[in-house]
Amino acid sequence: MPPRHLADLDLAARRAAVAALGEKEFRAAQLSTHYFARLERDPARMTDIPLTARDRLAGDLLPPLLTPVRELQCDDGATRKALWRLHDGSLVESVLMGYPDRVTVCISSQAGCGMACPFCATGQAGLTRNLSVAEIVDQVVYLAGVAASGGVPGSPNRLSHVVFMGMGEPLANYPRVIEAVRRLTSPAPEGLGLSQRHITVSTVGLVPAMRKLAEEDLSVTLALSLHAPDDELRDELVPVNQRWKVAEVLDAAWAYAARTGRRVSIEYAMIRDVNDHPWRADLLGKLLAGRLAHVNLIPLNPTPGSKWDASPKPVEREFVRRLRAAGVPTTVRDTRGREIDGACGQLAASEESA
Ligand code: SAH
Repeated sequence: MPPRHLADLDLAARRAAVAALGEKEFRAAQLSTHYFARLERDPARMTDIPLTARDRLAGDLLPPLLTPVRELQCDDGATRKALWRLHDGSLVESVLMGYPDRVTVCISSQAGCGMACPFCATGQAGLTRNLSVAEIVDQVVYLAGVAASGGVPGSPNRLSHVVFMGMGEPLANYPRVIEAVRRLTSPAPEGLGLSQRHITVSTVGLVPAMRKLAEEDLSVTLALSLHAPDDELRDELVPVNQRWKVAEVLDAAWAYAARTGRRVSIEYAMIRDVNDHPWRADLLGKLLAGRLAHVNLIPLNPTPGSKWDASPKPVEREFVRRLRAAGVPTTVRDTRGREIDGACGQLAASEESA
């Protein structure tokens, strides 16, 4: 794990940490305002704190966690991918996406991923380690700073949405992800002051963790990476299905919806001749009809060495038509960031590739 950072702590713990350094407790709020309200991560620019105090405080509470290795952009700057090196050399990526009405950041919760979904580049490399709370939060603070300085043309300057859809399985790093959500949503200067409703946690379907999440009293959106409506195929596409079956994982999703009143987002990558058959659309429609759910189809993004392709558009349209006919709200996700290997399933965090 990396050194402790301000963003690992709530305000009370920050005050205690500041006091333990022999500094005045109000410095905790001052540092917090710089970091969370002004999105200032560089201690050298926190000039309202006297230099000796600043050095001592920064040394203890603002260790550099993310070193930028490379930033790529496409869509005239509306999509940007950042590659970071962590203190131990691990690499992770985050993606910033600007839209006319909002700015969304897609963040990583782990270096690598242990879930081994065969169509996902992150899953091919295996898990390196969990990220700390501050390593998760710092991705957001950095990219919120990029947005604030006008870095996403044609979009608002204020970052408003966070999706845990980068590298890793968020629910496999449960306590840190929950704590990061709390930090992102506490009002400034304790946190970033984002709306819980604007945060999406995506999971392969770790059932016990999904059930626990429902009890947290958070109004975050839950996204479930389903990808197949039948166990035979899902066992292959999402190997954790061998442990928790489609019926169980959907039950946990409905429990989440019932408890929070939030519509669950069902993610379904459209893979040619693998999961895109009309009968699978009908079966999916039957499983979801009448539920608090929405389907987000993701045209399969290319990954190195993959034998699979995206479904042809007419097949995709028929899939959408059948789901809608079953009364299931369905949308098709854009393929944002494909050119920079920044789209769903393409985050491999290698220094060589794109
Ligand atoms: N581990 C979590 C968070 C990652 S979210 C989860 O699986 O939900 C990334 C989303 O992109 C998931 O729905 C994942 O299944 C999907 N995905 C992975 N590889 C993809 C690819 N090649 N094309 C399209 N979507 C992909």
